[in-house]
Amino acid sequence: MEHHPTSVTGGCLCGRVRYRAEVFLHNGYICHCTICQRSTGQPAEITVLIKAGTLTYTGDTPKYYQSSPDGKRGFCAECGSRIVWQALRAEDDWLTNVTVGSLDHPEDARVTRHICADTQLSWYDPCADLPKLVADQADLLVATLRAEVQPDGA
Ligand SMILES: [Zn+2]
Ligand SMILES: [Zn+2]
Repeated sequence: MEHHPTSVTGGCLCGRVRYRAEVFLHNGYICHCTICQRSTGQPAEITVLIKAGTLTYTGDTPKYYQSSPDGKRGFCAECGSRIVWQALRAEDDWLTNVTVGSLDHPEDARVTRHICADTQLSWYDPCADLPKLVADQADLLVATLRAEVQPDGA
């Protein structure tokens, strides 16, 4: 199914980091990887993709920590709120995503899948009816997301 971006605003707990972006609200995913667990201090991280090139900061910019060879995680230097996973390579920018909890209206988001379900905690099983991909299925995930947010193959 094709998805269309929606203009949103969001920010951190203390309000210093504020952003605007066009995001794909309806193909969010719950990532159970151990990096997301550590980064959030929670069982999983739930994020929505940004349309490449549309993320702009209207307050402070986040501080970043490079968490893998592919991306860096942005957070407010003052209050610590996790805001963004930013792709390091320009060609991967369409995978840049923001945390649903940082959206001003997180109630508008919908999650459609779990990823890295092989490290899902057994006692944490929200949205149990949604498809679950394991870490080894990264290629399938990327292909699926690309089809949803870039239907013209751009
Ligand atoms: Zn803050
Ligand atoms: Zn993750």
